[in-house]
Order: sequence, then C-alpha cells, then structure tokens
Amino acid sequence: MKTIEKIAARAADLGNGMVIRRALPSRQRRMVGAWCFLDHAGPVEFPPGKGMSVGAHPHTALQTFTWLIEGEVLHRDSLGNVQVIRPGQVNLMTAGRGIVHAEESLPDERRLHAAQLWIALPSSMADCEPAFDHYPELPRWLTGGCAITLLAGTFGGKTAPARLHSPLVGLDVASGQGGAVDLALDPAFEYGILPLEGSIRIGATDFAIDEFAYLGSGAVALTVELAADTRMLLLGGEPFGEQIVMWWNFVGHDKEAIAKAQRDWESGDPRFGEVAGHEGKRLAAPA
Ligand code: MN
Repeated sequence: MKTIEKIAARAADLGNGMVIRRALPSRQRRMVGAWCFLDHAGPVEFPPGKGMSVGAHPHTALQTFTWLIEGEVLHRDSLGNVQVIRPGQVNLMTAGRGIVHAEESLPDERRLHAAQLWIALPSSMADCEPAFDHYPELPRWLTGGCAITLLAGTFGGKTAPARLHSPLVGLDVASGQGGAVDLALDPAFEYGILPLEGSIRIGATDFAIDEFAYLGSGAVALTVELAADTRMLLLGGEPFGEQIVMWWNFVGHDKEAIAKAQRDWESGDPRFGEVAGHEGKRLAAPA
C-alpha cells in the first residue's frame, strides 16, 4: 500500500450543543468514491430531552445514510415516513430532486453514537423521485476476533440491502478484546477508514478515534489491527467520475442547481414539501 494520508476530523456544532466530528469533506479529501460526507456523532451521554435535535431541512441530489451504534433516533420526512432507527440499523434517504427531513433523539434517550454519511447521486439520478428506506437487518459475521457488519455494497461474498447508484462499500468492524482483520480490496476502489472508538494500526501507523486514514486505490488486500474496545468504519468506492458542488445540505452538478435549490427552499416551493407532525423550526440556509 502507498503512503496513507492521516486526516484529523474537525469539530462542528449541529446546534443544540451537539458537537460532532466531520471527516469528509476535508481540505485534503473531498470524497471516497461517491461517499461525500461523513459526520461522527458521539459516543455521548446527555440528560433526557437534550439529545440530537435537527430541525426540518432539505436535501438534493444525494442519499443520506445513517448508521446507528447507540441510542434511538426518530426520522420524519416530507414523504410521510416516521421511523425510529435503533442500534445496528441503517436509514437510507434518497433526496433526488428534493426532500425535507427532521431527526431527533427519542425523549427519554440518554445516549447517541452514530455515523451520518452522504452519498452523491450521479447526474443521471440527481433528479430522481425521493425515497426513504429503513434496513433493520444487515449481513454480519465474525473473523479474527472482530465482528463485521456490512452496511453497504458487496463484501466477502455478501451484499447489503441498501439501494445504491454507484459502486460502493461500507463496513463496520468492531472488536472487544482486540484483533486483526485481513480485508480483500477491489483495486478499482479508493478506500478510507475512520476509527469510531479505540484505535487501529495499518502497517506501522496508528490511527486514533476521529483520525481518518485515506488509503487511495490500487490495493488488493489490507490488514488492519484493532486495539481492544475498537470500532472502525471502512468506506470504499470507485472514484466518482463527475464534478459535484456541495453547499449547505445540497449537492448539485453545477452552481445553478445549488442556487435554484436555495431559492426553492426559501420560497417554499412544493418541490420540498413539509414534514408532517414536526413542531420544530424549519432551518434556514445561510446567506
Ligand atoms: Mn439531513
């Protein structure tokens, strides 16, 4: 494997005092395959009622991909979906031409640990009908003292159920006692790994929690050592062959698409609809 880049995730405030660490995009690395956004929330403990609370906001031309590790979060969207996501589950929301959603920890909840990802849609799918899917069961197996959950794509002869539109993979690897995994890689994919708890070693380099390891492409195998009480997220995908623009909660394939999304959100265009039953405020786009 070539030189591995180490990129420190940076803190960002989601509002309501909930601080997360953002590993993608960064100045050094915009994307890994079609994965274009990675926020790591928690692990954090809070008094009941003081958990995550993200008001109604729009998305375009992307899929939001939520991997929940601890806590319970309620998702509501402008298609009328109301879904609680629990540990070990994935929510996949396909924004396409436009969708609005709100997310909040359940009222009695005291913990949160999650990875919130976005996947850029290729231009052929950017304006597709919006959709929401909840995946309560994912492929899981044990190897080398580690528990592996396949979140997205195909790996180890198994395929995750999420409906994707680019060649991608996502894997959660967790170990209580510590271990090592030998991962077969696709040389056409670029890869990145983010420790979500504990620490990992790749070759002679250690990566602590929230230190993103960008691995590039061309490798066919990778061995990762996990310290005790470690969890990591592996992302991979074919390098995304199109230019995208990301601004606030929008992805677009040109600046005009972003400007139009902003105008449509501000003017209350029916493209974005309402989140029924949500009493919180509607988030405003920055100027
Ligand atoms: Mn969102």
